Amino acid sequence: MGRFSTRSRYDVGLAEVVELAITCEDCGKASTWNSQRIRHEYDRGFRTVPQVWQRLYCSYCKNRERSQGRNIQIKPKLRSRGRIKPENGHGQE
Ligand SMILES: [Zn+2]
Repeated sequence: MGRFSTRSRYDVGLAEVVELAITCEDCGKASTWNSQRIRHEYDRGFRTVPQVWQRLYCSYCKNRERSQGRNIQIKPKLRSRGRIKPENGHGQE
């Protein structure tokens, strides 16, 4: 017992996500996927947030040298629990 999960805190099913905030760490470009957009990705076969993240890139940074535009930060907002809490949260709800 008490074993820490090795899963990322963002390793959640896409069906649980109602909103996905996407930010490029390099240039600060930010966008938000609404539930419709998330549903669209789900219908295309993506089932988890990491699956979607793996194909995300910043089109601006991708066109620059020395960058793949892959320094993307994502923050999923979950259906039932609101924003994801830190891993040491006690989850009192
Ligand atoms: Zn960028």
